[in-house]
Amino acid sequence: MELNDLYRDVILDHNRNPRNFGVLEPADASVEGFNPLCGDRLTVRLKMADQTIEDIRFEGQGCAISTASASLMTEAVKGKSRDEALALFTRIHDLLTDDDASSDDLGKLAALSGVREFPARVKCASLCWHTLASALQSHEPQALPAVSTE
Ligand code: ZN
Repeated sequence: MELNDLYRDVILDHNRNPRNFGVLEPADASVEGFNPLCGDRLTVRLKMADQTIEDIRFEGQGCAISTASASLMTEAVKGKSRDEALALFTRIHDLLTDDDASSDDLGKLAALSGVREFPARVKCASLCWHTLASALQSHEPQALPAVSTE
């Protein structure tokens, strides 16, 4: 099927030339993720500007799907707000697990829907997203001091 070839090309491209790969220093949040089913291991680092992901990088070693997913993810969430990124995480989770999930407006991320045909690899594709969600949660914005208007 042609669509599958297209998806495969996106995955192969992002595995061969991962975007935003490397160490980000200084980082506001750094979380390591591990998928014992496959042995994928990656670290996601974030630089936050207020509530926005100003920069994101990942490093580590994993299979083609885990690397490509992380590469696609960093491209997709850079510049997005924390809430937008978490909403995207939910959509990708649905895309990977629900045959009826829509990939409209997901751009290149739609390629991840091809992973649905290989249930054993879903955790490879979702690893980076879970890691991103933990990183965003570990970087809880500091509660603003109560402002007195008196
Ligand atoms: Zn894997």
